[in-house]
Amino acid sequence: MIFSVATLRASLALLVCRAVCAAAADVAYFSDNGYGNPISTLQHPAAEHFNGVTYVAYSGPHEDPYVAAYVHATGKWIGPIQAGVNTMGKSPDQVDPGELDNHGRPALIVDRQGYIHLVFGAHGGDSSYGQNKFGTPGKGRLTHVVSQKSGDITAWKTLENISPFGTYTQWVKLANGDLYLFYRHGSHRSDWVYQKSVDDGRTFAPEVSVLKHKVSSDKPTVHDSWYAWFDNGQGDTITASYVYHPCAFPGHNARRSNTYYMLMDCRDGSWANVQGERLTLPVTKESADKLTLIQATGTEKSNHGTCHVDAEGRPHVFFRFPGGQVRYYRWDGKAWQKPTTVADESGQGQDGDFIIDSPLKVRMLLCQNHAGTGSVGWWNTADGGQRWTKGANLFLLMDASIQVTALVRNAHPDARMLVGSRNDQQEHLYHQMYLVGDHGALGRPADEAGHLGDRLETIKAMPQTKGKAEAKRKKKASKLDDEP
Ligand code: ZN
Repeated sequence: MIFSVATLRASLALLVCRAVCAAAADVAYFSDNGYGNPISTLQHPAAEHFNGVTYVAYSGPHEDPYVAAYVHATGKWIGPIQAGVNTMGKSPDQVDPGELDNHGRPALIVDRQGYIHLVFGAHGGDSSYGQNKFGTPGKGRLTHVVSQKSGDITAWKTLENISPFGTYTQWVKLANGDLYLFYRHGSHRSDWVYQKSVDDGRTFAPEVSVLKHKVSSDKPTVHDSWYAWFDNGQGDTITASYVYHPCAFPGHNARRSNTYYMLMDCRDGSWANVQGERLTLPVTKESADKLTLIQATGTEKSNHGTCHVDAEGRPHVFFRFPGGQVRYYRWDGKAWQKPTTVADESGQGQDGDFIIDSPLKVRMLLCQNHAGTGSVGWWNTADGGQRWTKGANLFLLMDASIQVTALVRNAHPDARMLVGSRNDQQEHLYHQMYLVGDHGALGRPADEAGHLGDRLETIKAMPQTKGKAEAKRKKKASKLDDEP
């Protein structure tokens, strides 16, 4: 078993290697070229386990999407390989995090035939691509690429078959192979939509609007907007858990409130609330408050988490709250149970995902960051969320904080979550990337894990690096989240 205290582990592994072997995993990371905020729980899945291989995607140099593959039978890594171009990317390498957009992170899915698909590259979509029918344009171009061969990440091609407008891409794959691509169709004042493909992502039906953006009926200076998270429900259903964003109009703000849930029946495309009452699409603020509200949070800021259903089809969901709190909600069949705080010591940037073993038994895999150290570990409940207890840590960094994705789709226990390190003291924006499971991180030989070439030397030689790095540290200290 490898327990990953990265620095300690690296030194230990090195010692062991020198003594007994030539080419074992001697660093815990599989790549060092995660760039900016390369992953998030919102763009998901970021990884999928398919036919014995775990494919992972994240933002690398130039904010372009990079893909790597871990072959479980051999313990070998392939890649990372650049899979496309993010039109929002900047050259040369930036050292000020404010220069990166980060919204163009890739979401990954593997189709029935083993082709790997990514959608990435936009924070709304540039107005030069025409009129955005579902909201306001933004930056970049929503881009869909697919691997040229099944099960092979070495070569990619672009498929021009989705809207150029969008951000926060999320794939849902049904058991029959139908693909649903959910995203916000533009910058923050835009509808959330999906496009459906029944031919492995080769063509998509037009957008269907699910959540409506509009001027608030309460106040003309407020615009109803949303942050939503979509995933498989039971059978052919898709869940949506979401929060309300009362956007300042004109302008923008960081306000978010309330928690909501609803469900799509993919057999006929209809949506219903948790009680089974039919919803009219797109859902407006008024109908959401009336029919899909889990909890009104008042002035307390809510943020999306993830959502899954148990064997009885009942949703469990968490949302994030100030102070790094993760709160768990469960529908008991009649009502939403009073939310409970999962981790007693919250820490900054706490986020993650969870597995439902039975209606009362849930395991949550959370990252927690305290004073420059980061961990990924389990929190468990056996009584439907009344009490949560700390389980095993899977991963620990003593000298950096951590960002995570939602769970790897169809995860192998050895590879549950994609993890990025984050060190605000360094003078560049590159971060080490890890794939973490029950035995720690799936590392590789150091010479295979280095993918930066001479980038760091080039950055160091840039005259403006020092001042910008200072500004960067100040900005980062005040702001960890980047989800406008
Ligand atoms: Zn806004």
